[in-house]
Amino acid sequence: MKWKGRRTSSNVEDRRGRGVGGKTIVGGGIGGIIILLIVTFLGGNPGDFVNMGAEDTAPYVETEQDKERAEFVSVVLADTEEVWTKVFKEEGLTYEEPTLVLYSGSVESACGVAGAAVGPFYCPGDQKLYIDLSFYDELQQKFQAPGDFAMAYVVAHEVGHHVQTLLGNSQKLAEQRQNLSTTEYNKYQVRFELQADYLAGVWAHHAQGMDLLEEGDLEEAMNAASAVGDDTIQKRSQGYVVPDSFTHGTSEQRKEWFYKGFEAGNLKEGDTFKVKNP
Ligand SMILES: [Zn+2]
Repeated sequence: MKWKGRRTSSNVEDRRGRGVGGKTIVGGGIGGIIILLIVTFLGGNPGDFVNMGAEDTAPYVETEQDKERAEFVSVVLADTEEVWTKVFKEEGLTYEEPTLVLYSGSVESACGVAGAAVGPFYCPGDQKLYIDLSFYDELQQKFQAPGDFAMAYVVAHEVGHHVQTLLGNSQKLAEQRQNLSTTEYNKYQVRFELQADYLAGVWAHHAQGMDLLEEGDLEEAMNAASAVGDDTIQKRSQGYVVPDSFTHGTSEQRKEWFYKGFEAGNLKEGDTFKVKNP
């Protein structure tokens, strides 16, 4: 991706090295009735999310690589602002820019305290995206998804969740969580996640239109979408696949919906809730 020397976003909040210093868990406690919706990039146990923090007091030292990555995600965020402002305008809507929080170790959000193990996430409660840049090492090594456009896809996917929030879909997801059985909710969540992949594809469509893509970029994003599919992750981590427990969609689905968005470049083809088999 052509990104060096380009405009960075003013909506980045750098909280690296700050930790959460023994804060109690937000929304926890017996009888807590507030249902906090957390939207993570990867599947996994929502329990990973709480009960962390406090342990992270290691000082943070920014490496050259982190410095570059911080700039990179800021440029990508700026690009998403430009694209979504335009796409929303075409729909007669107003885009409100989200904030990107960079953190190291653990972070406090309106959705609770999160550790790096959670992976990148979006919190509809404060309309912020949270990324620990060390996730990009994982993406490259553990997920075998190298390349700058793979990294851009992660940001674009989380921004996709922000778009869903502005469109009212995150609120619907939160309602479904209270009304559906776990299996049914998981199915609904898969559609929700695939929509975020579609929206990431929409962004990539416009990035291409702005001549920002380099050779191999699209493949990098598709490869990353495939690498974070539930079936692929489960096969690697536990050796078998439990479709009822899928929350983000299979590798095939994630790739497919990203590509649909990439081809369409608009919101119209992205109703993953309407199609029979997403
Ligand atoms: Zn997601």
